[in-house]
Amino acid sequence: MRDLRVHFRTESTLVRAVDGVDFELRAGETLALVGESGCGKSTLARALVGLNPVTSGTAELDGRPITGLSRAGLRPFRRELQLVFQDPYSSLNPRFTIAQTLAEPLLLHGKATRANVDSKVCALLSQVGLDSELRARYPHEFSGGQRQRISIARALAVEPRLLLCDEVTSALDVSIQAQILDLLKSIQQRLGLSYLFITHDLGVVRYIAHRVAVMYVGQIVELRETERLFESPAHPYTQALLRSIPRVSAEPSTRKPLAGEVPSPASPPSGCRFHPRCPSAFDRCPKEQPTLYPVESGVSRCFLNE
Ligand code: SF4
Repeated sequence: MRDLRVHFRTESTLVRAVDGVDFELRAGETLALVGESGCGKSTLARALVGLNPVTSGTAELDGRPITGLSRAGLRPFRRELQLVFQDPYSSLNPRFTIAQTLAEPLLLHGKATRANVDSKVCALLSQVGLDSELRARYPHEFSGGQRQRISIARALAVEPRLLLCDEVTSALDVSIQAQILDLLKSIQQRLGLSYLFITHDLGVVRYIAHRVAVMYVGQIVELRETERLFESPAHPYTQALLRSIPRVSAEPSTRKPLAGEVPSPASPPSGCRFHPRCPSAFDRCPKEQPTLYPVESGVSRCFLNE
């Protein structure tokens, strides 16, 4: 992805929801996109699958552009990029049995024939740890965790290369979250899929991601290998996010929460967008925009890392 921008025009303002994002996602890799609500992470994922129009910049899959395409031009990539949503209940048709839900993409994309579609449905259910006997049931007859497994099976039906997982565990109980994360890890090991994993839960990030991109007001401010980012965050915003993770301790907490609100992407602060909330800000910060500077195993958008 190079210099990708997704801007929306409202009546009076230009909203820069995604404002110049660059990254590379490797085959078989999980890259987590993190940041507070409204930082642009979901808008970015939706732009990749054609649900939000891209204003400028490019995204490529194996060197083939996937931005700036017509509906017809995008169709071959639809199969390779699959989106898995936070709320599987609203993305599953309540009038379809699970067998019908999974058969539809298999038949539509030529991954099964009428003769073998039932056995393919059973294989998909087994891939996500569900009993094929359940395939005649409807979505409301399943638990939240089971429905998320069905959503993952539906995404896998078309043999994608990349799954865009948008807050896929945030609506689930903690014990079920762990099961879904383990399932995604084992599927990745078996099939070599890449995941773009959007979440605000840093515990989930540490568990599943190889690298982490931290977003703030439409831009990436730090992108590092996961363990390095958690052990020694380079950007003051990442440091503040990590300090905000709740910990159980008998000692009273001395951690200071991050002050202030996330600025609106319709009127981002001048210079470094984080400067109004940054405890390390100095006179240069409101005047100049930092670029991404190399740090150990990644990059950081802060003058202190120049
Ligand atoms: Fe803070 Fe300045 Fe670094 Fe921005 S550039 S994160 S304001 S120190």
